Amino acid sequence: MIIMRIGKKIRINKRRAIISLLIMVALIAVGVTAAAKYLDSIPTELREGINIIETIPIITDFIKEGSLERPGDLRKIKYIVIHETGNRGRNADAASHNNYLHTEADNQRKSWHYTVDDHEIYYHIPDNEIAFHAGDGLRDDGGNLNGIGIEMCVNPENDYEKTLVNTAKLAALLITSYDLDISRVKKHEDFSGKYCAEILLAEDRWEEFVEMVKQELAE
Ligand SMILES: [Zn+2]
Repeated sequence: MIIMRIGKKIRINKRRAIISLLIMVALIAVGVTAAAKYLDSIPTELREGINIIETIPIITDFIKEGSLERPGDLRKIKYIVIHETGNRGRNADAASHNNYLHTEADNQRKSWHYTVDDHEIYYHIPDNEIAFHAGDGLRDDGGNLNGIGIEMCVNPENDYEKTLVNTAKLAALLITSYDLDISRVKKHEDFSGKYCAEILLAEDRWEEFVEMVKQELAE
């Protein structure tokens, strides 16, 4: 009697184990399928590894993942979003903006991928992660959700014209890396209406900048 009961118990436990196993396998399969579908939408050819454009160094110094500025959420890259820092303080160059992002001074959802000045480029957040620069929340097809944010420095010691050239080279590299076309080069204003990139807009030079990117692509 006792032996039979134990046998029955073992059979029941075995059945439970098999059912649990089947459920686990099913869950894993669903998870893998979902992940594969998602990964499919992420470009495989990340710009990672390129640390110089001609003579302009790209200094990779990612801010901490899991912070407000860098939640680490992956997305599809659709746009290159051009900004100006608007920071006319002395020495407000790319290195200084990199420092600012790393100190998380005001712990705001304010971040971007690259800062460019007349002699170097800082790379703060991986291209395939969201950042908060376009002022449009996480709107579908928006600048934050789908854009790579590039800030151009406007500090007084900085050569703005050289900064434009460096930014055009970076934009061309990103377009090529992610198989985008020139129509995907946008300004901040296109997403939230903010008057940015300020100097380009004030001097009516946006089309000129787009031409510079086209030139770089042609070379
Ligand atoms: Zn902006």
